[in-house]
Amino acid sequence: MASIFTKIVNGDIPSYKIAEDDNYYAFLDINPLAKGHTLVIPKKEVDYIFDMEDDLYRGLFSFAKGVARAIEKVIPCKRIGLTVIGLEVPHAHIHLIPINSIYDMDFKQPKLKLKSTEFENIAKQIREAFSELQG
Ligand code: AMP
Repeated sequence: MASIFTKIVNGDIPSYKIAEDDNYYAFLDINPLAKGHTLVIPKKEVDYIFDMEDDLYRGLFSFAKGVARAIEKVIPCKRIGLTVIGLEVPHAHIHLIPINSIYDMDFKQPKLKLKSTEFENIAKQIREAFSELQG
């Protein structure tokens, strides 16, 4: 059965899309630790990130770098933190999280409750920043 993220890529489930190309897709995490918390995934469904084929794996991080640059243009923060967990959704993904301290990467913290208009507004700004950066 298709993973929830494959359903997002296929448009069967909605997402707040940030960017995509032939191989990768980025969208806002629905339970964000911070505004701009984004997931970057390969379109090809692989559960464990370290099972990915090398070129696709390297490309995922390269794509995530461009997304991170776009997030930091929009969300005030010291850095974009990157982590991989994957215990909840069995489809490889990178978390990109705007951070100001180590505690901002703590997944035990309560998640933000944002209205759909806020998600849409954040996604639109990051999407536009991403497009500008890609030239
Ligand atoms: P993990 O697999 O532990 O890295 O966590 C999966 C992440 O996916 C969590 O942060 C969830 O909030 C996020 N998530 C799950 N379903 C969706 C969805 N439909 N849209 C956006 N993010 C999601």
